[in-house]
Amino acid sequence: MRSKIVAGNWKMNLSQIQAQELCREVNRMNIGPGIEVYIFPPMLYVSDCRNQSTAVKVGAQNAYPEDNGAYTGEVSMWQLKEAGVEAVLIGHSERREYFRESNEFLKQKLDAALVHGIKPFFCCGEPLEIRENGTFLDYVKKQLEESVFHLSAEAFKQIVIAYEPIWAIGTGRTASTEQAEEMHVAIRSRISEQYGKEIAENTSVLYGGSCNPGNAQSLFACENVDGGLIGGASLKASEFAVLVSEETWTILN
Ligand code: PEP
Repeated sequence: MRSKIVAGNWKMNLSQIQAQELCREVNRMNIGPGIEVYIFPPMLYVSDCRNQSTAVKVGAQNAYPEDNGAYTGEVSMWQLKEAGVEAVLIGHSERREYFRESNEFLKQKLDAALVHGIKPFFCCGEPLEIRENGTFLDYVKKQLEESVFHLSAEAFKQIVIAYEPIWAIGTGRTASTEQAEEMHVAIRSRISEQYGKEIAENTSVLYGGSCNPGNAQSLFACENVDGGLIGGASLKASEFAVLVSEETWTILN
């Protein structure tokens, strides 16, 4: 059975004190049974959050594929592993767009994360013009084909996929349940073609993009949506608490 996951991407927000406080609050939340919760704090606070966390897992928002060397400003998967980091975001649209991360580079990151036993949350999703011209299913499949499908079946089993339509990230415009389910079905069936039905059925595919307490229940109730990667609403303890609560996950399921 695939895991149900709610993950908070704090992006480049919060002071150290605020991050520690939010981390404490998340760890005290009433998390619904069987729901795995991850937080992705800014890199500087990852160790603090790791040391403070008992109920939730801590990931990094980024890492460099080489283990060490002359890569000024970067942090490696190997270093993250030593700091106790359990997961890493790879392919977030903000990194693709602002830092020009290519599908080939993301592939290298994915390999490095897996070598060090860090769970990759691989993000994919289309920009607005691709949604509007109707080629979005092929666009997302290509992202998977170029960065992920070189993995062996054993390696692939370690990863979580997050579908994040770019037009929905931080915009307040969420995908409808039909749009989310259509894409999640397409992703799962492409995984099935590549790795077989059993692996596809056991892969968690999260939705991300303006997910909040007002829409999470219906999104999480979609058969192929296994939870959410949450930006804005993960910074507000009262909102994130709703997303991880049993009520959000049970009423419609
Ligand atoms: C994100 O950046 O991963 C995200 C989903 O952001 P938001 O929830 O703010 O749209």
